[in-house]
Amino acid sequence: MPGPVEYKLNILEQFQCVGEKCPQNCCRGPWSITLSPEMAARWQAETDKPELAESMEAVETTGNKEYITKKNRSTQQCILLSDEGLCNIQSRYGTEYMPEVCVRFPRFTRTSLHFELKSAWLSCPEIARLALLEQESGGLLCSADATSPIGTSNSMPLDTYSQAVHWLSKVTPAILALRKYRLGIRLYSIAWFCGRIYQCLQRAGGLDQDLVRQLKKYKNQVYETNLRIKQKKLRPDPCNAVNYWKAIASLIRQLKIRHALIELEKSDLWRTLNTEITNAAGYSTLYAKLTKHSEPANTWLQAHCRQILENYLQLVFVNAGFPWDPEGKNHAATFLFCIIPFSIVLLLCWMLYEQAAEITPAQLLTLIYTVEAKATHNNVIYDTLAADPGKYALHQYADVFIDLA
Ligand code: SF4
Repeated sequence: MPGPVEYKLNILEQFQCVGEKCPQNCCRGPWSITLSPEMAARWQAETDKPELAESMEAVETTGNKEYITKKNRSTQQCILLSDEGLCNIQSRYGTEYMPEVCVRFPRFTRTSLHFELKSAWLSCPEIARLALLEQESGGLLCSADATSPIGTSNSMPLDTYSQAVHWLSKVTPAILALRKYRLGIRLYSIAWFCGRIYQCLQRAGGLDQDLVRQLKKYKNQVYETNLRIKQKKLRPDPCNAVNYWKAIASLIRQLKIRHALIELEKSDLWRTLNTEITNAAGYSTLYAKLTKHSEPANTWLQAHCRQILENYLQLVFVNAGFPWDPEGKNHAATFLFCIIPFSIVLLLCWMLYEQAAEITPAQLLTLIYTVEAKATHNNVIYDTLAADPGKYALHQYADVFIDLA
């Protein structure tokens, strides 16, 4: 049996940490920096390097007997980081004595049965710049086996989950590549397929034949969606849309996402999303106010920042293992884990456009790495979804994704 097909983010070799020039140093943040027991022992044993043993004072042990470096409580900064923004361990002794996570970040490897990915996190501003700003067209990933592009296996697996992986691996990259359609239209289709597949996985008996027919004709599905939107026969349901964007605003608060470019409290859109709705008509009124802000901002983004958004979406899906290796074998949850930070970025863009009447590619980039740092290195999104599994029925509210740029 052949081994996994290998894919690699094509800018990995170009990447070099920009250290003290980094606008969002990874040594600051709400995550733990762990030290392996072996490295902790090395720090203590190096008698000719007394500063290493002293550095153990900057390390604490957790209830799980894990070693983690201490953080400054107010700045969330690793206390081994110097005032100049450099790692004290690295500057004195090189990478050989650094915690493994610090050497590896932002690179990571994701391995599953058929697939191995070498990629990097978009929470690193330099990776975001190289992958999103410097890449002119798709093809962010290169494969060691050029004859096996992602998602083209033709053998039909037997169990329902493997069928789901098989079909979503075929249609997701193919739909994303249909760039003559707006992103929102393509996302509607992927979300709809994902929701229907989730529904089939809840029942015994494999994917239903109707769904398989539609998956085979995915291009027709996207074409017809576009047509129905143009003919005004399909539009987001105000109730679905308002509830979705209110949930996104709530996550912005919960994840404490703030950005110097946007004054949330002064934003009409932010106030609108925080308005209480008391009756059914309230949803239509609120949705009309939302689109008053989202439509011109989306038009601007399509004209000036489309490539960044296309690359962003492609990379967040792949990094999260969608659709080859979804979290907990749940494609719907993993789709949402990707699309929620994307939606947070868009909502911030809409507010930025409201306040500045423009969004530059560089500004969009800062919003992306800020949101990625806050939203994707913790379990908040997956935990929020797990508390409301009805959200996995994506086909029932896929219309909300039409508004995503
Ligand atoms: S976030 Fe990236 S560029 Fe910034 S300090 Fe960390 S690795 Fe270097």
